Amino acid sequence: MSAPALCLEKVERRYDQAGSPLEILRGVDFCLWAGQSVALVAPSGAGKSTLLHIAGLLEKPDAGEVFIAGEATSGMNDAARTALRRGEIGFVYQFHHLLPEFSALENIMLPQMIGGISRREASDRAGQLLHYLGLSARAKHRPAELSGGEQQRVAIARAVANGPRLLLADEPTGNLDPKTADHVFKALDAIIRATGLATLIATHNMELASRMDRRVTLHEGLVVEVD
Ligand code: ADP
Repeated sequence: MSAPALCLEKVERRYDQAGSPLEILRGVDFCLWAGQSVALVAPSGAGKSTLLHIAGLLEKPDAGEVFIAGEATSGMNDAARTALRRGEIGFVYQFHHLLPEFSALENIMLPQMIGGISRREASDRAGQLLHYLGLSARAKHRPAELSGGEQQRVAIARAVANGPRLLLADEPTGNLDPKTADHVFKALDAIIRATGLATLIATHNMELASRMDRRVTLHEGLVVEVD
């Protein structure tokens, strides 16, 4: 059996606030396998973003190890971490963070071209993803010309454009009305099922969480399963 897409081992993270340490993660153990979708449901301030940033190699833990596809990352230099992140990890945030001066298609092409893929191939894949998400007619539109739900679907397409093993989403529907959130979530769910990605999604939406394979929360700085 292949290694989990993501494993956190005894991960600790604390912040200094007004001189006293704030213990956010106190030895998190958590693994996520290919094809698995997990909802992370916890109150604001519990440390969800911190956990996602550490899992996505955007932030380093104070102690513990992050394994991506079985590879320990703590000893890697910045260039190696960046390469691993670009190739293996996709991010979706609450706000789309699309580049305003580029079209939907170009926004999905860019991460691929940065990864060394030809313009032609990147354009083909971006077009396929837009088609899959029902957005072919919006390919040439800039983000400002798209609805909130469309922007978020383009952000999802961009996150998976390089065929990552791991998708991390930080309240991806948190900024949308319930109907649009449902639509975006279905798109996300379809992509997860079609690609066999491992997915960790922080969300406040219990209905969306109930459709994931597993649900976890953060309790006293540890990841625990809920059900
Ligand atoms: P969540 O995503 O669950 O809302 P966060 O991971 O954003 O939680 O934050 C967890 C806690 O850590 C919060 O109390 C927050 O104020 C604190 N925190 C987050 N980032 C920093 C930082 N860079 N410096 C100090 N405190 C921080």
